[in-house]
Amino acid sequence: MIAPHQTDFHVHPDYSIDAEGSIREYCEKAVSIGLKKICFTTHIDLDPRREEFDPFMRIDGEKRRIKPEILNLYQEEIQYEARRFAKRDLEVFCGIEIDYFEGVEEVWKNFNSGLEFDFIIGSVHCIDAIAFTWSKHAPSCFKRNDSRRFYEKYYKSVVGLARTGLFDCVGHLDGYRKYAAASIPGGLDDPPAELVESALAAIKEADIGIEINSAAIRHKVGQTYPSEALLRKAAEMEVPVVSLGSDAHSPDWLGVGLETSSKYIGEFGLIWRPRC
Ligand SMILES: [Zn+2]
Ligand SMILES: [Zn+2]
Repeated sequence: MIAPHQTDFHVHPDYSIDAEGSIREYCEKAVSIGLKKICFTTHIDLDPRREEFDPFMRIDGEKRRIKPEILNLYQEEIQYEARRFAKRDLEVFCGIEIDYFEGVEEVWKNFNSGLEFDFIIGSVHCIDAIAFTWSKHAPSCFKRNDSRRFYEKYYKSVVGLARTGLFDCVGHLDGYRKYAAASIPGGLDDPPAELVESALAAIKEADIGIEINSAAIRHKVGQTYPSEALLRKAAEMEVPVVSLGSDAHSPDWLGVGLETSSKYIGEFGLIWRPRC
């Protein structure tokens, strides 16, 4: 029986332009820290309004416009390493993290030439095409939207994400905490209960789940994404946790915080229902 903390299902190798570390380096690190399962989840950001910033991947050290062929190479490299590391008791999965925006299903369908992935995280990183998860743009996002407006738009996006039928998991549910405190004097208020509940209900209805993302530890904002309060709400509404993830952007951060996330499952009485 593999324990939750032996699995890391949110990992960015150097195919992501904001990450470093090859797939092999990550796998070596995974073995060295006792992980049994690892899933790579490189960024796929296809919002046409963000052409200038997002739709890129790195291949052989070069930043290139994202193309199905590159995704194909990504998948092949993961499959190759998966065969090698199976001998060392590590299961390696091929996933992606897709940025959610309205209409993403159609854009993804037109982009993807039939590749299948083991695990797909859907994450909301932007409001009105402005990235609140990016230090450079977060202040302008929070300036345009006070807490209430921000939350209305954000949690409406999460409902939309859940209803696409495209995803296995909602990434870093309250990831907005990363820059909110630095951008707004006093930080954001707590999210209105009815908005959180509507999003969690949509996730449950869609038969998907949330991840517990321990990057909050690295970002020094405390707890995990989602926060303890949101995790308690998820437990109460019986929304399953489908994965734990460090959201590592370098091998040094692989697996960091998984013990804490794993402890939360038991402590809050969350349902643990991994997809693979
Ligand atoms: Zn993300
Ligand atoms: Zn990520």
